[in-house]
Amino acid sequence: MKRRDVIKNLSILPMSGVVLGSAMPLGSVLGSSVSEPPAAPKRDLIKELGLRKFINAAGTYTFMSGSLMHDEVVEAIRACSKEFVLIDDVQDKAGEKIAAICHAEAATVTAGCWSALVLGTAGVITGMDPKKVAQLPNVEGMKSEILVQKTHNHGYVHALTNTGAKIVEIETAEELDKAVNDKTAMMWFLNYCANDGKISDKEWVALGKKHKIPTMIDMAADVPPVSNLWKFNDMGFDLVCVSGGKDLRGPQSAGILMGKKELIAAARLNAPPRGGNIGRGMKVNKEEILGMYVALEKFVSIDHEKEMQMWKEQIAVIESAIKNIKGVTTNVSIPPIANQTPTLNFFWDKNIIKLTREEFQDRLRKGDPSIEVIGGKDESINITAWMLKPGQEKIVASRVQEVLSKGV
Ligand SMILES: *Cc1c(COP(=O)(O)O)cnc(C)c1O
Repeated sequence: MKRRDVIKNLSILPMSGVVLGSAMPLGSVLGSSVSEPPAAPKRDLIKELGLRKFINAAGTYTFMSGSLMHDEVVEAIRACSKEFVLIDDVQDKAGEKIAAICHAEAATVTAGCWSALVLGTAGVITGMDPKKVAQLPNVEGMKSEILVQKTHNHGYVHALTNTGAKIVEIETAEELDKAVNDKTAMMWFLNYCANDGKISDKEWVALGKKHKIPTMIDMAADVPPVSNLWKFNDMGFDLVCVSGGKDLRGPQSAGILMGKKELIAAARLNAPPRGGNIGRGMKVNKEEILGMYVALEKFVSIDHEKEMQMWKEQIAVIESAIKNIKGVTTNVSIPPIANQTPTLNFFWDKNIIKLTREEFQDRLRKGDPSIEVIGGKDESINITAWMLKPGQEKIVASRVQEVLSKGV
C-alpha cells in the first residue's frame, strides 16, 4: 500500500484532505519556482539506519519508544547541554520546582518510574546511614518487609525486591495489622489496581500512619487526570512514583520520585551521582532532569479537557470508519484508572473476515505508512489516539477500514 493510495482512500472519510497537506512540501505544490537556497539537510538517523518509523495508534509503550517529547522539552535539553553544572544542584533546584507543582515536600528525577520505586524503597530501608546504603541489597539487620495487597502483587514489585526487600502479601486490613512486625519497612500501593484490592488508597495511608510505616504509591501511567500529580501527595502517601515518559511526555528515560523530605534525601543517597550503592546504574543527567521538569510544567499548563475532546473526536473518526463493516464489533471506553484516554476496542467474526489478529497487525505494520496497534482482550484490538499527531487518525481510519474490508 503506497502513501498515495492512502491519500486516495481518505476521500471516503469525512473531513478528509485536511491532514495531508502538511505531508507535501510547499515547493512541490507550487511547482518549485521559488528560488530560496535550500536549508542544510538535517541528518535523518531513522532513514540513515534504516529504522522503521510508524504511526503510534497503540499508546505509551516502552518498547515503542514511549511518547514524543514536546518541542519545549527538546529545546530545554538542547540548551542545557551546552554547559556544565553539578548534578546535585540540578536535582535540588529542579526537585524544588517539581515538588511545588505536585504539592510534595521534595522530589527528585529518576531514571523512570521503575527506578523511582527502587530508589524510594532503598531510601526507606537505609535512611541516611551510609553503611546501610553500601550494604544493600544485603538487608541483614534492616527492616526489609514490604506489605502489598495480593491483587497489587504484579511484575513491577521486582523494583522493590531489587533492594533486597521481601514482599509480604495481605488482603484485608485485619491481615495487615497482623502482618506488621519489627521487620516491616514499607507499605506499597499499586494505583492501577486500586479497584481490585480490599483496601482503598485512603485506608492504606491511614493504616500506614496507624502503624508508623511509610507508604508508597506507584501511579506510573496514571495521568491524566492531571490532578493525580498532587492527589496522592495531598492524601498523605509518603512517596509517590510516576513515569516521565508516558503521557507526561518527558524524556522516556525519566521519572519522578516525590514525597517526604527525609525520604527523598535518603533515596538520593542511594542514587547517582553517588556510587557504591544499588542505584549507581540508574543515572540521569542534567538533560533528563531539566527535560523532566519542563515536561511537567508543560503538562500542567495544557488544557486537558480540550485535549480529551480532541482524542474523543479522533477515536470517533476511526470507529465510524469500521463500525458498519459486516462482522466487526466496536466499543469505545475510557479506562477507569491508568492510560485514561478514549480507547477503541474492536474484534471481528473470523468466519466473515478471514484474518487473524496477528495478520491484521502485520498488514498495518507493513503498510505505508506503517501503523502499530495493540492487542486487547480475547483476540481484540485496542486503538488510542493520544500518541497520534493531529490528522493521523484519518490515515489510521482509512488503513484499518481497508484491511478489515479488503484484507490488504
Ligand atoms: C510503566 C510502569 C512502570 C515503569 O515505569 P518506567 O517509567 O517505564 O520506568 C512502573 N509501574 C507501572 C504501574 C507502570 O505502568
